Amino acid sequence: MIKAVVDEVLKEMENATNEGIKEVDDYMDTETGLLMCGQCHTKKQKKLSFLGEERVVGCLCRCAAEKLEKERARHEAEENLMHIQQMKSAGLQDRTFYGYTFERCDTSQENAIYAKRYVEHFSEMMQAGQGLLFWGNVGTGKTFLAGCIANALLEKKIPVLMTSFPKILNALGGLYSAERNEYLASLNRYTLLVIDDMGIERDTQYTLETVYTVIDERYKSGKPFIITTNIQLDILGNPQDLEHARIYDRIMERCMPVFFGGKNYRSELGQGNRDTAKKILTGLNDTV
Ligand SMILES: [Zn+2]
Repeated sequence: MIKAVVDEVLKEMENATNEGIKEVDDYMDTETGLLMCGQCHTKKQKKLSFLGEERVVGCLCRCAAEKLEKERARHEAEENLMHIQQMKSAGLQDRTFYGYTFERCDTSQENAIYAKRYVEHFSEMMQAGQGLLFWGNVGTGKTFLAGCIANALLEKKIPVLMTSFPKILNALGGLYSAERNEYLASLNRYTLLVIDDMGIERDTQYTLETVYTVIDERYKSGKPFIITTNIQLDILGNPQDLEHARIYDRIMERCMPVFFGGKNYRSELGQGNRDTAKKILTGLNDTV
Protein backbone atom coordinates (compact mmCIF):
# COMPACT_ATOMS: atom_id res chain seq x y z
CA MET A 1 0.00 0.00 0.00
CA ILE A 2 2.65 2.49 1.13
CA LYS A 3 4.89 1.27 -1.65
CA ALA A 4 2.19 2.14 -4.17
CA VAL A 5 1.88 5.65 -2.82
CA VAL A 6 5.63 6.13 -2.80
CA ASP A 7 5.78 4.82 -6.35
CA GLU A 8 3.15 7.29 -7.39
CA VAL A 9 5.01 10.19 -5.79
CA LEU A 10 8.32 9.14 -7.29
CA LYS A 11 6.75 8.81 -10.70
CA GLU A 12 5.43 12.33 -10.43
CA MET A 13 8.82 13.61 -9.29
CA GLU A 14 10.43 11.90 -12.23
CA ASN A 15 8.01 13.42 -14.66
CA ALA A 16 8.35 16.83 -13.14
CA THR A 17 12.12 16.85 -13.08
CA ASN A 18 12.70 15.23 -16.44
CA GLU A 19 9.98 16.97 -18.30
CA GLY A 20 11.10 19.69 -20.61
CA ILE A 21 14.74 19.61 -19.63
CA LYS A 22 15.84 18.23 -22.97
CA GLU A 23 17.11 20.79 -25.40
CA VAL A 24 18.07 20.47 -29.06
CA ASP A 25 21.77 19.72 -28.56
CA ASP A 26 21.30 17.41 -25.60
CA TYR A 27 22.06 13.73 -26.06
CA MET A 28 21.90 10.45 -24.25
CA ASP A 29 25.08 9.03 -22.81
CA THR A 30 25.27 5.55 -24.20
CA GLU A 31 27.08 4.12 -21.19
CA THR A 32 24.85 5.46 -18.42
CA GLY A 33 21.67 6.14 -20.35
CA LEU A 34 21.49 9.58 -18.77
CA LEU A 35 20.70 12.83 -20.54
CA MET A 36 23.78 14.99 -21.18
CA CYS A 37 23.93 18.72 -21.83
CA GLY A 38 24.87 19.53 -25.42
CA GLN A 39 26.62 22.71 -24.24
CA CYS A 40 28.76 21.74 -21.27
CA HIS A 41 28.68 17.94 -21.70
CA THR A 42 27.82 17.22 -18.10
CA LYS A 43 24.89 15.25 -16.76
CA LYS A 44 21.37 16.63 -16.83
CA GLN A 45 20.05 13.58 -15.04
CA LYS A 46 21.18 11.40 -12.23
CA LYS A 47 20.22 8.08 -10.75
CA LEU A 48 18.68 7.94 -7.33
CA SER A 49 18.19 4.84 -5.30
CA PHE A 50 15.03 4.89 -3.24
CA LEU A 51 13.43 1.98 -1.39
CA GLY A 52 15.56 -0.39 -3.37
CA GLU A 53 14.55 1.00 -6.70
CA GLU A 54 16.57 3.07 -9.06
CA ARG A 55 15.04 6.22 -10.41
CA VAL A 56 16.27 8.76 -12.88
CA VAL A 57 15.74 12.38 -11.88
CA GLY A 58 16.75 15.65 -13.44
CA CYS A 59 19.70 17.63 -12.14
CA LEU A 60 21.57 20.76 -13.08
CA CYS A 61 24.31 20.45 -15.64
CA ARG A 62 27.37 22.63 -15.10
CA CYS A 63 26.32 25.48 -17.36
CA ALA A 64 22.83 25.59 -15.85
CA ALA A 65 24.31 25.62 -12.34
CA GLU A 66 26.66 28.44 -13.33
CA LYS A 67 23.81 30.38 -14.86
CA LEU A 68 21.77 29.95 -11.70
CA GLU A 69 24.70 31.06 -9.53
CA LYS A 70 25.23 34.15 -11.71
CA GLU A 71 21.56 34.94 -11.44
CA ARG A 72 21.72 34.55 -7.66
CA ALA A 73 24.80 36.80 -7.40
CA ARG A 74 23.17 39.42 -9.60
CA HIS A 75 20.06 39.34 -7.46
CA GLU A 76 22.14 39.65 -4.30
CA ALA A 77 24.10 42.59 -5.74
CA GLU A 78 20.83 44.29 -6.68
CA GLU A 79 19.40 43.80 -3.20
CA ASN A 80 22.61 45.07 -1.69
CA LEU A 81 22.55 48.18 -3.85
CA MET A 82 18.92 48.78 -2.97
CA HIS A 83 19.73 48.44 0.71
CA ILE A 84 22.54 51.00 0.41
CA GLN A 85 20.27 53.35 -1.54
CA GLN A 86 17.67 53.11 1.22
CA MET A 87 20.28 53.77 3.87
CA LYS A 88 21.54 56.77 1.92
CA SER A 89 18.14 58.28 1.44
CA ALA A 90 17.48 57.91 5.16
CA GLY A 91 20.92 59.09 6.23
CA LEU A 92 21.86 61.89 3.86
CA GLN A 93 19.48 64.72 4.58
CA ASP A 94 20.64 66.89 1.73
CA ARG A 95 20.72 65.74 -1.89
CA THR A 96 24.06 67.46 -2.47
CA PHE A 97 25.69 65.13 0.07
CA TYR A 98 25.17 62.24 -2.36
CA GLY A 99 27.95 63.48 -4.58
CA TYR A 100 30.52 63.89 -1.81
CA THR A 101 32.68 60.82 -2.34
CA PHE A 102 36.37 60.01 -2.09
CA GLU A 103 36.33 59.24 -5.81
CA ARG A 104 35.78 62.93 -6.46
CA CYS A 105 38.26 64.02 -3.87
CA ASP A 106 41.90 65.03 -4.10
CA THR A 107 43.16 62.33 -1.78
CA SER A 108 46.72 63.60 -1.76
CA GLN A 109 45.54 66.41 0.51
CA GLU A 110 46.41 65.83 4.13
CA ASN A 111 42.89 66.25 5.50
CA ALA A 112 41.55 63.84 2.91
CA ILE A 113 44.09 61.28 4.07
CA TYR A 114 42.88 61.71 7.64
CA ALA A 115 39.29 61.30 6.51
CA LYS A 116 40.12 58.12 4.60
CA ARG A 117 41.99 56.71 7.58
CA TYR A 118 39.00 57.51 9.76
CA VAL A 119 36.87 55.33 7.50
CA GLU A 120 39.46 52.55 7.29
CA HIS A 121 39.83 52.45 11.06
CA PHE A 122 36.20 53.12 11.81
CA SER A 123 35.69 50.10 14.05
CA GLU A 124 38.43 51.34 16.39
CA MET A 125 37.08 54.88 16.22
CA MET A 126 33.60 53.58 16.96
CA GLN A 127 34.78 51.60 19.94
CA ALA A 128 36.59 54.62 21.33
CA GLY A 129 33.63 56.89 20.55
CA GLN A 130 36.15 59.00 18.67
CA GLY A 131 34.74 61.72 16.46
CA LEU A 132 36.15 64.54 14.38
CA LEU A 133 35.82 68.29 14.50
CA PHE A 134 36.34 69.85 11.08
CA TRP A 135 36.86 73.54 11.70
CA GLY A 136 37.94 76.42 9.49
CA ASN A 137 36.56 79.10 7.25
CA VAL A 138 33.72 78.78 4.75
CA GLY A 139 34.59 77.05 1.50
CA THR A 140 37.51 75.02 2.72
CA GLY A 141 35.93 71.64 2.04
CA LYS A 142 34.82 70.61 5.53
CA THR A 143 31.32 69.54 4.49
CA PHE A 144 32.68 67.79 1.43
CA LEU A 145 35.09 65.61 3.40
CA ALA A 146 32.53 64.89 6.11
CA GLY A 147 30.20 63.81 3.28
CA CYS A 148 32.93 61.57 1.85
CA ILE A 149 33.20 59.81 5.21
CA ALA A 150 29.41 59.46 5.44
CA ASN A 151 29.10 58.00 1.95
CA ALA A 152 32.04 55.64 2.37
CA LEU A 153 30.59 54.23 5.60
CA LEU A 154 27.10 53.96 4.10
CA GLU A 155 28.63 51.97 1.24
CA LYS A 156 29.82 49.57 3.94
CA LYS A 157 26.25 49.49 5.27
CA ILE A 158 27.17 51.34 8.45
CA PRO A 159 24.23 53.56 9.45
CA VAL A 160 25.21 57.22 9.22
CA LEU A 161 23.04 60.29 9.60
CA MET A 162 24.37 63.49 8.09
CA THR A 163 22.27 66.46 9.08
CA SER A 164 22.51 69.95 10.55
CA PHE A 165 21.09 71.79 13.53
CA PRO A 166 18.70 73.88 11.39
CA LYS A 167 17.32 70.61 9.99
CA ILE A 168 17.02 69.05 13.44
CA LEU A 169 15.34 72.20 14.80
CA ASN A 170 13.02 72.26 11.86
CA ALA A 171 12.02 68.63 12.38
CA LEU A 172 11.47 69.20 16.10
CA GLY A 173 9.38 72.30 15.47
CA GLY A 174 6.29 70.38 14.46
CA LEU A 175 6.44 67.71 17.14
CA TYR A 176 4.77 67.18 20.49
CA SER A 177 6.94 66.47 23.48
CA ALA A 178 6.68 62.66 23.35
CA GLU A 179 7.48 62.67 19.65
CA ARG A 180 10.33 65.06 20.27
CA ASN A 181 11.99 62.62 22.62
CA GLU A 182 11.47 59.85 20.14
CA TYR A 183 12.99 61.93 17.37
CA LEU A 184 15.98 62.85 19.52
CA ALA A 185 16.47 59.20 20.47
CA SER A 186 16.31 58.22 16.81
CA LEU A 187 19.45 60.28 16.14
CA ASN A 188 21.42 57.89 18.30
CA ARG A 189 20.31 54.82 16.43
CA TYR A 190 22.88 55.82 13.81
CA THR A 191 26.37 54.48 14.33
CA LEU A 192 27.81 57.81 13.19
CA LEU A 193 26.15 61.19 13.44
CA VAL A 194 27.49 63.98 11.25
CA ILE A 195 26.31 67.48 12.06
CA ASP A 196 27.18 69.90 9.34
CA ASP A 197 27.83 73.57 9.85
CA MET A 198 27.33 73.95 13.58
CA GLY A 199 26.97 77.59 14.53
CA ILE A 200 24.82 78.79 11.65
CA GLU A 201 21.64 78.25 13.69
CA ARG A 202 20.33 81.32 15.49
CA ASP A 203 21.69 81.65 18.97
CA THR A 204 18.46 81.64 20.95
CA GLN A 205 17.86 80.06 24.32
CA TYR A 206 15.71 77.38 22.71
CA THR A 207 18.31 76.62 20.05
CA LEU A 208 21.13 76.37 22.56
CA GLU A 209 19.04 74.06 24.70
CA THR A 210 18.30 71.80 21.73
CA VAL A 211 21.89 71.79 20.51
CA TYR A 212 22.98 70.89 24.01
CA THR A 213 20.45 68.05 24.23
CA VAL A 214 21.55 66.55 20.92
CA ILE A 215 25.25 66.77 21.77
CA ASP A 216 24.78 65.59 25.33
CA GLU A 217 22.66 62.60 24.30
CA ARG A 218 25.21 61.68 21.69
CA TYR A 219 28.01 62.08 24.19
CA LYS A 220 26.25 59.84 26.67
CA SER A 221 25.54 57.22 24.00
CA GLY A 222 29.29 56.79 23.57
CA LYS A 223 28.86 56.72 19.80
CA PRO A 224 31.08 58.88 17.60
CA PHE A 225 30.04 62.10 15.92
CA ILE A 226 31.56 64.49 13.43
CA ILE A 227 31.00 68.22 13.57
CA THR A 228 31.86 70.72 10.87
CA THR A 229 31.93 74.37 11.85
CA ASN A 230 33.21 77.83 11.00
CA ILE A 231 33.65 78.57 14.68
CA GLN A 232 37.32 79.05 15.47
CA LEU A 233 39.05 76.52 17.68
CA ASP A 234 40.11 79.08 20.29
CA ILE A 235 36.44 79.97 20.78
CA LEU A 236 35.46 76.32 20.98
CA GLY A 237 38.24 75.82 23.50
CA ASN A 238 37.36 78.94 25.51
CA PRO A 239 33.60 79.43 25.32
CA GLN A 240 32.18 82.81 26.29
CA ASP A 241 29.58 81.46 28.70
CA LEU A 242 28.44 78.39 30.54
CA GLU A 243 25.73 77.49 28.02
CA HIS A 244 28.23 77.27 25.19
CA ALA A 245 30.83 75.69 27.43
CA ARG A 246 28.72 72.64 28.21
CA ILE A 247 28.21 72.06 24.48
CA TYR A 248 31.75 72.74 23.33
CA ASP A 249 33.38 70.82 26.18
CA ARG A 250 31.65 67.62 25.11
CA ILE A 251 32.60 68.17 21.49
CA MET A 252 36.21 68.91 22.36
CA GLU A 253 36.38 65.82 24.51
CA ARG A 254 35.12 63.43 21.82
CA CYS A 255 36.11 65.03 18.53
CA MET A 256 39.63 65.38 17.22
CA PRO A 257 40.04 68.88 15.76
CA VAL A 258 41.14 68.98 12.14
CA PHE A 259 41.87 72.42 10.72
CA PHE A 260 40.75 73.35 7.23
CA GLY A 261 42.18 76.18 5.20
CA GLY A 262 45.66 76.66 6.57
CA LYS A 263 49.16 75.49 5.86
CA ASN A 264 50.16 73.68 8.97
CA TYR A 265 47.58 70.91 9.27
CA ARG A 266 49.64 68.55 11.31
CA SER A 267 50.29 70.92 14.19
CA GLU A 268 46.55 71.55 14.39
CA LEU A 269 45.63 67.91 14.53
CA GLY A 270 44.89 66.37 17.85
CA GLN A 271 45.08 68.42 20.95
CA GLY A 272 44.78 66.92 24.39
CA ASN A 273 44.73 63.25 25.15
CA ARG A 274 43.97 61.77 21.79
CA ASP A 275 47.22 60.05 21.12
CA THR A 276 45.75 56.83 19.75
CA ALA A 277 43.34 58.57 17.40
CA LYS A 278 46.10 60.94 16.32
CA LYS A 279 48.43 58.08 15.54
CA ILE A 280 45.76 56.32 13.52
CA LEU A 281 44.83 59.39 11.51
CA THR A 282 48.41 60.34 10.75
CA GLY A 283 49.28 56.75 9.91
CA LEU A 284 51.89 56.45 12.65
CA ASN A 285 50.00 53.44 13.92
CA ASP A 286 50.25 51.52 10.65
CA THR A 287 52.28 48.37 10.84
CA VAL A 288 54.48 48.17 7.77
ZN1 LIG B 1 25.02 22.50 -19.64
